[in-house]
Amino acid sequence: MKIKGTCRRCGREFLVDQVIQSGGGCPWDGKPFEPDYAVVLVNALRDAQAAGTALEDALGKVADLEPDFVLDADSVLEELRSHLERLERLHAHGVARG
Ligand SMILES: [Zn+2]
Repeated sequence: MKIKGTCRRCGREFLVDQVIQSGGGCPWDGKPFEPDYAVVLVNALRDAQAAGTALEDALGKVADLEPDFVLDADSVLEELRSHLERLERLHAHGVARG
């Protein structure tokens, strides 16, 4: 899974891979996204991409088997979407963490 993002500072899009490779900074403006927790951030991004890829692969295998059921998309996506929307809300309102 190739997760993409947008920098709040410079507004440019990036691949999460680029942030991982830079050690937690924006590949365009070079500044850290989370200076105090760069390692935590990089590890979490790496985990998210690896887990996303594993989820994609596993669901692909399930679909290939053409089993006699359907899966509830919300049960897979809802929690993921809520976390991503939380990031967007922070962005939209410019809320500082703390
Ligand atoms: Zn940037």
